[in-house]
Amino acid sequence: MEFLNNNIIFNTIDNGIIILDENLNIKAWNKWLEVKTAVKAKDIVNHEICEKFPYIDKKKLVRKVKSVLITKSTSFFSVEPHEYLIKIQSNSIMGKVFKYMRQDVTLVPYDLDKRLVCLYIYDHTKLHETSQRLKKSNEELKELSSKDPLTQLYNRRYFTESAITMQSLSIRNNHHISIIILDVDNFKNINDTYGHSVGDKVIVSLSRILENNCRKSDIVARFGGEEFVILLYNTSLSFAQSVAENIRQNVEDYSVEVKTGKFSFTLSLGVAQFEAQLDKDIESTINRADKALYNAKESGKNKVIVDL
Ligand code: GH3
Ligand code: MG
Ligand code: MG
Repeated sequence: MEFLNNNIIFNTIDNGIIILDENLNIKAWNKWLEVKTAVKAKDIVNHEICEKFPYIDKKKLVRKVKSVLITKSTSFFSVEPHEYLIKIQSNSIMGKVFKYMRQDVTLVPYDLDKRLVCLYIYDHTKLHETSQRLKKSNEELKELSSKDPLTQLYNRRYFTESAITMQSLSIRNNHHISIIILDVDNFKNINDTYGHSVGDKVIVSLSRILENNCRKSDIVARFGGEEFVILLYNTSLSFAQSVAENIRQNVEDYSVEVKTGKFSFTLSLGVAQFEAQLDKDIESTINRADKALYNAKESGKNKVIVDL
């Protein structure tokens, strides 16, 4: 391998090159690797690679080297779980995501008579960092598009999409789904008397009361303004009625603190259960619950009405 040591390509190329024999002894180690690892070729050539880098999966590498020599073809070497073959500190200056260089490794047959393979190590840290960032911003975007910014509750869009999934789940498992729809009574008065920001505070406090009365598996969503919808999975109509009544009572007992003192507010609520024979979809159940809510408003507010 002497001639390689003076080979200009071998020593100027922007990736790592190792020549290995079939017993994993290093036969050549290029300049890139010398610079990145601070290990000189003269100190590593003729040493077995796993002796120097014990975290390499020896069995896997032996198998791969043999198969490349047998098939006489190029092959990728998976570097999981470390994501590197040779541990090198990552040196990206801007917002480092990974501590160590992310590497992609390719094996090619080098000299079939001498049973040598060539290992190319590519620095793909930037590529992996970019895809990691992309993944993160996609997740953030998804979160943004499913949540209401004021209350952090789900929005109408997310609710509607999830309701479709819940509906098929309930039919398959023969589980009940109940819907509660609710609206703050005389909310316009609150805004007019205390101002819009106090109105917002009421909406946020109400959101926490709703969450406290529901399970993680229920979907609590802000449908718009001061109107909210709750989907209770595996819940009968009578149980949903008692959940609604608890919410109504909790809200009635709650007081909102303002500079001039305290005030309280009330809710009207409509409840309905999804009936596969009666409802085309959950949207129809919501409509029935909404009619019940309308009746609650008409008959004096601060009450729960169930659509039977
Ligand atoms: P009802 O008892 O019949 O429900 O009467 P209401 O006054 O609650 O109903 P109305 O629909 O007349 O008023 C709702 C008000 O809610 C009107 C709107 O300005 C206000 N509103 C809608 N969204 C928000 C919000 O995000 N923040 C605040 N502070 N007010 C909002
Ligand atoms: Mg209202
Ligand atoms: Mg309203």
